[in-house]
Amino acid sequence: MILSTRFQICVSLFLMSLIAATLKRSSIQSFIYPITRPTVSRAMHIQSIPMWEGTGNNYAYLVTDDKSKEAVIIDPANPPEVLPVLKEKTDGGDIKLSKIINTHHHHDHAGGNVEILKHFKLPIIGGKDCTKVTETPSHNSTFTIGDSIKVTALHTPCHTQDSICYFVEDGSDKAVFTGDTLFIGGCGRFFEGNAKEMHTALNEVLGGLPDDTKVYPGHEYTKGNVRFAKKVLNNDAIKKLDEYSQANKETQGKFTIGDEKQHNVFMRVNDPDIQQLVGQTEPVEVMRTLREMKDRS
Ligand SMILES: [Zn+2]
Repeated sequence: MILSTRFQICVSLFLMSLIAATLKRSSIQSFIYPITRPTVSRAMHIQSIPMWEGTGNNYAYLVTDDKSKEAVIIDPANPPEVLPVLKEKTDGGDIKLSKIINTHHHHDHAGGNVEILKHFKLPIIGGKDCTKVTETPSHNSTFTIGDSIKVTALHTPCHTQDSICYFVEDGSDKAVFTGDTLFIGGCGRFFEGNAKEMHTALNEVLGGLPDDTKVYPGHEYTKGNVRFAKKVLNNDAIKKLDEYSQANKETQGKFTIGDEKQHNVFMRVNDPDIQQLVGQTEPVEVMRTLREMKDRS
């Protein structure tokens, strides 16, 4: 008797859970699904094109609005490595190339413009000293790629006076192309500028971007940058970057502005440990001393 009652309870519990599961799958899910479906479009696609691997370790970037297929190519400095990608994608109807964008005038960034123009008739957006430049956007001015991607030009003079970083947004997706101004865990040399300008570029202009903005620099320099960072500071973020760069050949797009504020010593000029090591407290002087130390390292 007790056994059969237990059996009945078990059967009814089983049936109830079965009904509940069916309800969950059908009515509840069909009720919730339209609401939880992503409403924000994610049309931005970024393709890295490594160039001069093993020497310059540069990156060109192809940024495409997947909806309209409009695309721009950033710093296509070595045409033999970039043109095959562009040709395959344009011939296959995957992209409609609309612009060449340059981060600064150096040959390993803007030096491919003339050759690319022979194959694609395109305007060149870039700093004033870039080869064949057709338009230099003013600081904070914007343009679009297709319907979804908004680009904001950010002037960051120092590495060169014509350095421009490009902040791109597609809904909640955010990225910044930093040329030779900001690298993962480091910054560019002060060829045409000074420490005050780099402090402004890194810690005000780029540091002012949302923390979840992914960083796409002009070179893969992370391993060397970590080697230097470890001599200056030992925090968990630098240890993490060290491990990541040992295990991964490419680090572009894997770290954010928020990460840089933790592991990039040039974005930690207010860190008391760094200030003590360099013997300076004024942020611009800390920046100057760090860069001199890195140049000597
Ligand atoms: Zn450069």
